[in-house]
Amino acid sequence: MTELRVAEVIEETPDAVSLVLDAELDYAPGQFLTFRLPNGLERCYSLSSSPYTGEKPTVTVKRMPGGECSSWICSSVVAGTVLEARPPAGLFTPPSLDQDLVLFAGGSGITPVMSIVKSALAAGSGRLVLFYANRDPSSVIFAGELRRLASEHPDRLQVTHWLECLQGIPSPAQLAAWAAPFVMRAAFVCGPGPFMDAVVGVLPSARVERFDVVDLRDEASARILFGPGQAATHTSHDDAFLALRDGADRFTDHGGPPPEYMVCVQPDAGEVSKSTLAARVLDTLRAWQARPDQVGIVEGIPGFDREVYALIEHELPGARFYPFSAVWADGLPLAAHQKWISTRFHLHLLAAAAGAGGVAISVHSRYYATKHQSLIDLGSGWTLTDPTEDSAPPPPPKPGGFSARSLRRYADRKAELARSIYLPAKVAVR
Ligand SMILES: Cc1cc2nc3c(=O)[nH]c(=O)nc-3n(C[C@H](O)[C@H](O)[C@H](O)COP(=O)(O)OP(=O)(O)OC[C@H]3O[C@@H](n4cnc5c(N)ncnc54)[C@H](O)[C@@H]3O)c2cc1C
Repeated sequence: MTELRVAEVIEETPDAVSLVLDAELDYAPGQFLTFRLPNGLERCYSLSSSPYTGEKPTVTVKRMPGGECSSWICSSVVAGTVLEARPPAGLFTPPSLDQDLVLFAGGSGITPVMSIVKSALAAGSGRLVLFYANRDPSSVIFAGELRRLASEHPDRLQVTHWLECLQGIPSPAQLAAWAAPFVMRAAFVCGPGPFMDAVVGVLPSARVERFDVVDLRDEASARILFGPGQAATHTSHDDAFLALRDGADRFTDHGGPPPEYMVCVQPDAGEVSKSTLAARVLDTLRAWQARPDQVGIVEGIPGFDREVYALIEHELPGARFYPFSAVWADGLPLAAHQKWISTRFHLHLLAAAAGAGGVAISVHSRYYATKHQSLIDLGSGWTLTDPTEDSAPPPPPKPGGFSARSLRRYADRKAELARSIYLPAKVAVR
């Protein structure tokens, strides 16, 4: 704990004060201080000042009705009061001040957001939009300062004030409509719980700041959350790669030779009917001149993945069905010479890791197609087909799958992430 002397108390609104601290603090925009108050209780208050503008460190405290510490601060702290505090902390801080941001603040949630706004305008080049919700005009903290900043930086800061007394509580639809042009930007949200939940519900990127580590399977998802430039740094691909450093050989020991043609088709993904999928699988196997006794059917999810097969079973006498229980007990019947047809992502991943070629059937254009495409981009060598658009069956795939080098690279990247989470240097074992 350090002792911090209050240099000045500024009345921001009838129920909020700023405490200007006579101190040199090393902090990032959006961080907070934890104060231990004379009653022995500890409370966190965010710095509303910017470390880039030369101003003194300042926290802003709103009196919470019935709140013990905020009431004491708002009524009893004066210039000269000495408060005990822990050093600045917190991760509510943008990685770059040059990034375009979308900011949401509700009530006293403006405090860390104000620090980010002032810092970005003073020391960065990012463009900022702020949605700022309050009960009524008298409760708007920093109204004048925001007006001044917006008029000084008309191209970089836009502020939308939302007053509950006039407009009601912002609905998810209203928040979504306001945020629509900015969904690709990194988002920062601070305010009462229900306000934060409503924003996070409509803006995927707002979820990010709630987590210390965000890791994604594909860059398409990362672009939505972090923007194009940042996507690659948050994408270490699927967790299954962790186990595939040396390929997927250990899944091949199934007892009996693995079939040459393999099928795993799910019925439960929405956009494509079971009969369309069944016809597509049959047409494809025929186009590849696969004999029924050379075909294996894998059940990825018990019960479900038998449904499409049930429609074509009579056309495939002698095909071998691998129920989920057999896969669970003996592993997948994988081999490098195989040709796969799969709607399932993990079957695509594992078969390609064993060196098998294949065709991924997209059963959902905005979900499964993205997932399969991410594996193709990583070098699975498979092709992606949409049975609702492509009329002719795809040509037989070539074997290959992921190269040994790629698999090692993906596994190493996952292992590095796992180490950073589970074995951080700062963890001390007593
Ligand atoms: C990281 C972080 C940053 C923060 N930054 C800021 C900031 O910049 N500015 C700011 O103003 N606040 C900020 N806060 C909130 C702040 O830390 C305090 O939580 C807030 O000031 C309330 O503290 P209090 O002691 O006044 O209220 P408390 O005494 O803790 O009471 C909180 C609420 O609970 C009710 N309550 C208390 N006891 C009971 C009971 N027995 N039964 C039922 N209800 C009860 C009270 O009426 C009150 O409404 C931040 C919090 C965090 C975690």
